[in-house]
Amino acid sequence: MEMAVLPDHERKALGRRWLLGIVSLFLATLAAFAVLCLHYPELLTTPELRAVYPMGLVRAVIAGGIVLAAGVGALAVVLARGRRLGALGLALALAAQLGGGAWVEVETPVARSQHFGLDWLALDLLLLVVVFVPLERAFARLPEQPVFRRGWRTDLAYFFVSHLLVQLVTLATVAPAALLLRWAAWPALQGAVAALPFALQLGFAVLAADLASYAAHRAFHAVPWLWRFHAIHHSSEALDWLAGSRLHLVDVVVTRAIAFVPLFVLGFDEAVLAAYVVWVATQATWIHANLGTRTGWLDHVLVTPRFHHWHHAADAAARDKNFAVHFPWLDRLFGTHHLPGAAWPARYGVLADAPPDRFAAQLVWPFSRRSV
Ligand SMILES: [Zn+2]
Ligand SMILES: [Zn+2]
Repeated sequence: MEMAVLPDHERKALGRRWLLGIVSLFLATLAAFAVLCLHYPELLTTPELRAVYPMGLVRAVIAGGIVLAAGVGALAVVLARGRRLGALGLALALAAQLGGGAWVEVETPVARSQHFGLDWLALDLLLLVVVFVPLERAFARLPEQPVFRRGWRTDLAYFFVSHLLVQLVTLATVAPAALLLRWAAWPALQGAVAALPFALQLGFAVLAADLASYAAHRAFHAVPWLWRFHAIHHSSEALDWLAGSRLHLVDVVVTRAIAFVPLFVLGFDEAVLAAYVVWVATQATWIHANLGTRTGWLDHVLVTPRFHHWHHAADAAARDKNFAVHFPWLDRLFGTHHLPGAAWPARYGVLADAPPDRFAAQLVWPFSRRSV
């Protein structure tokens, strides 16, 4: 039963055999999260998302999810395609239904308060699984790599924590830039930037953020005590859409806060900042994905999976290379570019003084004394 010790091909075979059970448990978990969100919207949902939910559609999707999870779960039990997982999915779907299902009344207006982003977690997970799991199967760079590859639980824990703590992380990310803005404001420049067309502003915003995050990223590699935090991100031995989530909270907050400074100081339009956040989240997921599609000239214009996979390479020649997250030519400019021919790295991960495998151990590891 313990998947952690199984080789890739056996994990893949097991995943295929348990498919119905896995699908049922996945859908039932999301449905249960959704029902919890309906019961405790103040505590578990994000005000910015709440404002735009088409509730009729949301409730219909939740109801459909419960029915589907229960049906697929029953099928898994009958056909023995992940019997235990299917039984669990069926039970969870029934619990979600008994707990009020899709028609739990929500008293509006819901007051703004401290909250966890459980709705954001469920939505983003559903969206990414639906988009990237089939894409990675169709265009895999490593076709033998299973969905449930080594370390997936650790990365999923990062995904959960960073989404649940979205309010705290956003606050910690934006606060330093906002404070700085109080005395670094340059109204003439900000006025000129805000007057530019949207697309041009967005291009400049991505460039400004990439320059700042290039500097932060390079510092995280060069300064030994900072590297302890960033080594966590590099400890993934298998890359896919979920692997990019593996970032120590200190790494996330510091890097993003630094990337936000030029965005605030230059005074970009709020719609541009929102578009930038969507861009960076999408590109970050894509560049870690297990996608081997030939990207050709694009490798030299935009950071692509192959470019960022080289950043994660265990090869000595690729160490401390490819720091950019948006524009690879920044690395050319600063002499840290590494993209040999059409090749891909042979291996990923950290070879010397590697962090532990589990989430909780990784959280405290950078604070512990160096082992060497
Ligand atoms: Zn790095
Ligand atoms: Zn990465």
